[in-house]
Amino acid sequence: MRAPVPTPSRTLRSEMTRPVAKDAGTPLMQQYREIKARHSDAILFFRMGDFYEMFYDDAEVASRVLGLTLTSRNNGGAAEVPLAGVPVKALNEYLRRLVSQGFRVAICEQVEDPKLAKGIVRREVVETITPGAAFADDLLDGARNNFLCALNASRPVAGIAAVDLSTGELRLATASASDVAPVLARLAPSELLVAREKSGDAAELDLVTYSDENVLVTEREAWEFDPALGADEITRQFAVASLEGFGIGADDASAVGAAGALLRYLRELQPSGVPHLARPVVERPGSAMPLDDMTRRNLELVESLRGGAPGDTAGTLLGVLDRTTTPMGARLLRQWILTPLTDRAAIEARLDAVEALAADSLARAALRSALDGVRDVERLAGKTAAGRATPRELAALGASLARLPAVHEAASRVSGAGAIAPLLARWDACADIAGEIASTLVERPPLAIGDEESVREGVDAGLDELRALRRGGKDAIARIQSTERERTGISSLKVGYNKVFGYFISVTNSNRHLVPEHYQRRQTLSSEERYVTPELKEYEEKVLTAAERIEAREREIFESLRARTGKAVERLQCASSILAQLDVLATLAEVAEHEGYVRPEMHDGFELEIVGGRHPVVERMMPREKFIPNDLVLTDDARMVILTGPNMAGKSTVLRQVGLIVLMAQMGGFVPASRARIGIVDRVFTRVGASDNLVRGQSTFMVEMSETSAILHTASARSLVLLDEIGRGTSTYDGVSIAWSVSEHLHDAVRCKTVFATHYHELTQLAEELVAVRNYNVAVREVGDEVLFLHKLQPGGADRSYGIEVGRLAGLPDPVLRRARQVLRLLEGGHLVQGKQEAGGRKQETAQQLGLFEPSKPHPVVEQLKAVDVDGLTPRQALELLARLIEEARE
Ligand code: ADP
Ligand code: MG
Repeated sequence: MRAPVPTPSRTLRSEMTRPVAKDAGTPLMQQYREIKARHSDAILFFRMGDFYEMFYDDAEVASRVLGLTLTSRNNGGAAEVPLAGVPVKALNEYLRRLVSQGFRVAICEQVEDPKLAKGIVRREVVETITPGAAFADDLLDGARNNFLCALNASRPVAGIAAVDLSTGELRLATASASDVAPVLARLAPSELLVAREKSGDAAELDLVTYSDENVLVTEREAWEFDPALGADEITRQFAVASLEGFGIGADDASAVGAAGALLRYLRELQPSGVPHLARPVVERPGSAMPLDDMTRRNLELVESLRGGAPGDTAGTLLGVLDRTTTPMGARLLRQWILTPLTDRAAIEARLDAVEALAADSLARAALRSALDGVRDVERLAGKTAAGRATPRELAALGASLARLPAVHEAASRVSGAGAIAPLLARWDACADIAGEIASTLVERPPLAIGDEESVREGVDAGLDELRALRRGGKDAIARIQSTERERTGISSLKVGYNKVFGYFISVTNSNRHLVPEHYQRRQTLSSEERYVTPELKEYEEKVLTAAERIEAREREIFESLRARTGKAVERLQCASSILAQLDVLATLAEVAEHEGYVRPEMHDGFELEIVGGRHPVVERMMPREKFIPNDLVLTDDARMVILTGPNMAGKSTVLRQVGLIVLMAQMGGFVPASRARIGIVDRVFTRVGASDNLVRGQSTFMVEMSETSAILHTASARSLVLLDEIGRGTSTYDGVSIAWSVSEHLHDAVRCKTVFATHYHELTQLAEELVAVRNYNVAVREVGDEVLFLHKLQPGGADRSYGIEVGRLAGLPDPVLRRARQVLRLLEGGHLVQGKQEAGGRKQETAQQLGLFEPSKPHPVVEQLKAVDVDGLTPRQALELLARLIEEARE
């Protein structure tokens, strides 16, 4: 997690409290300082004409981060003030660079017309942009939400509120202390609000295991998280009398407190309000599977272990599944992957829809092509409601809505299918909105009003009249050219236009003598003279005032259209959510078809049976026939599988594919297998031993153990636990012992489904001791001195490790390999296994089993020495014994 607030605030404050006299200087700097004092934690972009200027430390930070030239401003003869500026036109690019590095930027605008201002122009901060509070497309990734979260670290139930300002989503969630980290990991906020002085509590709440480095932590006052204040904030924001209508109850108090802090913060960032927030959605614990951070990472659900740029999904499940056509579909798919369901009816509803779409390729193709070209309705609607959409964006929203009938028609072909039916039941094509936008705006309006025409002919009589006037004026001016040519006899006479002089008549030097008296000279160039006439100026006046009034009128019409559309934001968000769901369902069907996935049979029992299972990501990295499918069954009386085999055999792949298949099924998708029967699990846990764990460079055995301990505490009998080389981060004996006892606990106390991959073949002996343990190994074949990896799972434990063969594959020199084989034989020779007793008291047996990890049985002479009763021997007997022992020892 990023340290709280990496802003220049501290240094800035000291700068600001510098003796005022020194740079009291101009009133402008006084105004600056007043505003800056209220935004000391942000970089202040201070609007001056066509630039945003930064002063003092802001200027220094910005020049360093943005590579701007640092200059200085002479401040009324006193101290020089460091200064850096960015052109207004390039605002978004500079914002992106600052915000992506975790800075806040406060935008201070001139809020009155400089021409009308008496004295200094009034300025105000109109918004503050932070990593968690951004609208501009440049700052956002279309394929994922940008959440700003607030955490109310109360006990025993913590509250989390999340808002995506760009889409208007607002969510409330409550979670027990141990589930806070998984909830945050799923939302992956770019900014997190926590109560000041309560960071201790936050740490206690397992936030330590939520270790996203990209999150900016913002501290707020503790009282802001008060649930009563939160209720006020919510009712005020949505203008409702009580929270009941939102389904918010007493149990949600902690989340309401978090929402209060969130809304208050948003009011500071967006003083003009956030009218586009959608009604809060309450997420209830239990409806979805909490996936902890390590499981999400180890299974490479949305980000790969190799790291890579943010948004890079290569090598992840998301990368394989994401064939969505719309941005809101892409975002929803990501959410579905991170929020597998646990309710069978809900899972089956999605599966029914996917099955229908997979079976009807025509419907699927029609649906996907109707969705193709639908833009980000959700974010466009948000911008529209927030009064930020440009004419071009509003037109894009309209054009996207215009595709809804085609989407509906395609989806209707499979209308009865599971999750699709309820979507079509609440269908609203927003035809009125689409129609109004289409009939008001031209097909491709400009980015800003005034550049080109935005509003269609025939929409507004006043506008049409003004345009006719302007056209008339232009025509009249064009006519002046021909009449003046005739009148003066100058055939090369031209009427031209430039910004400084307006319309003019130009005459080349050679014709100057023909110019009539009443022409008034305006400008002399080397080859021509430029004149105006009263008639020309009269029309010019008409054209220019008409242009000004046209722009004003267009703006009025556009803004009222935008406001009316914005009022329908809830309908638009609803339409967007339906589009997103159709997109994801069609995508899951499309991928299922392409990749040969099957519908899993879901049931509420315990058993998990996978026939011909594949790893969805690994299989894509090789030619199709190269990937070897594997079967795996876990039942109540064979609920733990110990998976052994040499390095590189494919243990981790099998282990992860089991987890992925279960998660894919529970998100409502088809799975890479030839058949799968899946007893719904309440959670999937995945842990990878320290040395296999690429996630944390600094990973230690301690981390591995604390993660394992978290599983032992939270897993239930309905969980699926996947352990990969746990215990590897320490010495062999420690490691084997811990792995052994963890397995015993999972088997005896938790009784969950477990797959444990290990290269310690000692663990195969667990099967002789625990009734529900089965050994499997990943087959290898020895050909001479070489080892062939078959990647095929088979019953039984691996007989040995083949580590040396892997060493050979890795290119260890021959003499080293020869010596390694010798040493291995020596070690194996001494590595005797003690008494494998038949049934009987297991505890006692365990103690004996553990003896097997001792390096070797002591030498028989030592055993005999230990047994000697010195007091019971005569000197002669003692001598005889000594002679015999010496003889034996020399053998
Ligand atoms: P282990 O965990 O046993 O060391 P991995 O699961 O990491 O082995 O697999 C090592 C490599 O073997 C993988 O990167 C992959 O290329 C290949 N592999 C694994 N399983 C299969 C399989 N079922 N079919 C084909 N290749 C596989
Ligand atoms: Mg492995």
